Amino acid sequence: MEPILDLKDFSVTYINKYKKVYAVKNVDFEIYKGDSLGIVGESGSGKSTLAMGVLRLLPEDGAQISGTANFSGVDLTKLSEEEMKKIRWKELSVIFQKSMNSLSPVHKIGTHIEDIYRIHKPNATKEEIKDRFFYLLDLVNLSNRVYNLYPHELSGGMLQRVSIAISLIHDPKLLIMDEATTALDVVTQGQILDEISRMEEELDMTRIMITHDMSVVATSCNKVAIVYAGELMELGYVKNVLKNPLHPYTKGLVSSFPSLKGDREKIKSISGFLPDLSKRVKGCIFAPRCSNAIDICYNKKPEKIKMEDGRTICCHLYGGENK
Ligand code: ATP
Ligand code: SF4
Ligand code: MG
Repeated sequence: MEPILDLKDFSVTYINKYKKVYAVKNVDFEIYKGDSLGIVGESGSGKSTLAMGVLRLLPEDGAQISGTANFSGVDLTKLSEEEMKKIRWKELSVIFQKSMNSLSPVHKIGTHIEDIYRIHKPNATKEEIKDRFFYLLDLVNLSNRVYNLYPHELSGGMLQRVSIAISLIHDPKLLIMDEATTALDVVTQGQILDEISRMEEELDMTRIMITHDMSVVATSCNKVAIVYAGELMELGYVKNVLKNPLHPYTKGLVSSFPSLKGDREKIKSISGFLPDLSKRVKGCIFAPRCSNAIDICYNKKPEKIKMEDGRTICCHLYGGENK
């Protein structure tokens, strides 16, 4: 099977007047139809930059992209803005934490939907648009009356449900959710994650879920990529990685989530801070915070090692010269 999205050596560097910020470095992963890949890492680790880079939503003069991002066989890094516009919403959709804030408060939800729908289907009738949107509203547990409401008349949970419905209006091949449920209370977040799982079965969706919350991944993803300071640390099936984390950083993240391992009293945070992303590092980027670090970790970058259970891990403890 061909992957829907295939990143190879994908890197994003922010370039401003005074320095370069190496926000995403040499990331490789593949997503297949029906996959739901969680991308997890602490704040500032480059999760949103990765998504914005793939979607080509970064300012051309402020960010440099290298490597390839093959989406259904087309390398997104090579497309012009005009070509990208044809793909966004239709083939590749995104929801941000504050997606709905961008909707004009003076227009009803229905007006917004019609505008978005007609970007790709300019001749669509109101009836056709309503048919599609009402079907999606039902999947996210909202009533059709939302169509005639203004954004301010909806709660945060309802707005996020509407943004999910909007993002799926053209039946995209891949949906990227960037902290899309983070601002919601735990109950609403749980309900929305359940709805997403049900929708996935009905619509055969493929999804990337960006989050700093491991429990979101545990409940709604089949694969997980752990990123740190813009680099991929570990990637594999959720059932393997969360049950038996191998990379020292993943171990730290997993043990910081009480619902995943043990009770609240045993929560351990990883001490230290993210490194300065404007500096190139010779060895393992996690070494200054890693309690397992050995000499080689400070001098040589670990290679990506493929494990027997299919996971990829980037750590000297598993392969290379230390094997
Ligand atoms: P969060 O969980 O807080 O959303 P994140 O993992 O999404 O964090 P990014 O927002 O992608 O992280 O940021 C990655 C790094 O790139 C950070 O160090 C950030 O300060 C830096 N960065 C983001 N935008 C720019 C920019 N326009 N110019 C320079 N550096 C930037
Ligand atoms: Fe820790 Fe070394 Fe593995 Fe990096 S390569 S995570 S420093 S053991
Ligand atoms: Mg972010």
